[in-house]
Amino acid sequence: MRTTKTTTGLVLRATKTGEADRALLLLTPDGLVSAMAKGALRMRSRLFSGTGLFCYSEFVLFEGKTMHVVDAASVKQVFWGLHEDVERMALAMYYAELAATLSPTGEEAAAQLRLLLNSLYFLSEGKRPPRQLKAVYELRAMTLAGFMPDLVACADCAKYEGGAFCFDAMSGCLYCAACAAGRGLACNLDAPALAAMRYIVFSEDAKLFSFSVSPQAARQLGAVTQHWTLVCLNRPLRSLEFLCTVWEPGEADRKKTAEAAGSTREDGCAAAENGAAGAVPPEPQTGLREAETAKAPEASEAPEEPRGTPTEPEPPENPEKTKAPRAPAEQ
Ligand SMILES: [Zn+2]
Repeated sequence: MRTTKTTTGLVLRATKTGEADRALLLLTPDGLVSAMAKGALRMRSRLFSGTGLFCYSEFVLFEGKTMHVVDAASVKQVFWGLHEDVERMALAMYYAELAATLSPTGEEAAAQLRLLLNSLYFLSEGKRPPRQLKAVYELRAMTLAGFMPDLVACADCAKYEGGAFCFDAMSGCLYCAACAAGRGLACNLDAPALAAMRYIVFSEDAKLFSFSVSPQAARQLGAVTQHWTLVCLNRPLRSLEFLCTVWEPGEADRKKTAEAAGSTREDGCAAAENGAAGAVPPEPQTGLREAETAKAPEASEAPEEPRGTPTEPEPPENPEKTKAPRAPAEQ
């Protein structure tokens, strides 16, 4: 008698295989699960809609000889907006690669799934600037994975705020301008960018996305969170390179020229050069510091309850009547 299990899961990867099958990588509340959805790409397959890329569905799985086989998949949430432009899809693909790379288990898996669902919701709905959403996801996902940066105060003199600071990704520590100068480090965070970073690390789930920053602070924040992510993972992410070509067309060519000239750039996408290659990742830290030390940046609007959590997903309106499921591009 075959063993089945029922679980919710988000499709991180849906690869066409064979004639009409889909090989899936799911993020479930218990961790990553590989599963085969046989015949899912046939037009009338009952597995078609529930197994598309970035579908959040309830799956019935049974154990096959080498991997799980999908017996049923019923859609709980579809992030339609992701399919509307290449930027959103590229960022969602980056989220997915990051989540798969972190490969969370146990309680962390449920928390990473919640973070990812909320991030996809805000991205899909276009409710926050994509660069801000990217920074939130990177920093929060790394924190959940045990890579929490030490943002409480300057690691040398304990200064908490005032002026620019340097977050040194190699040590995972913060330095005030004077101490950074003494160490030969350049400041990379102005006051609003540092406040935003602390907010992302320390805020509660429900308020995580409820802040806004200036474009300049957002740029600094994004460069630092990306660098931190790459240093911690110590490996390149292909989806990040693609996202950078979407954000900075021509950047790849410019990079080659810059490399030829021996120059490097520390901000924005150029840091995706995987400037982290060869870096020694810091030891994962466990245990949250006191959230009280976090100072929230000014909220631009009333905190909004993120939707799309595993416990209370909101299904799209009349999914079968208003919108026929579109086939997501197979990888
Ligand atoms: Zn200092």
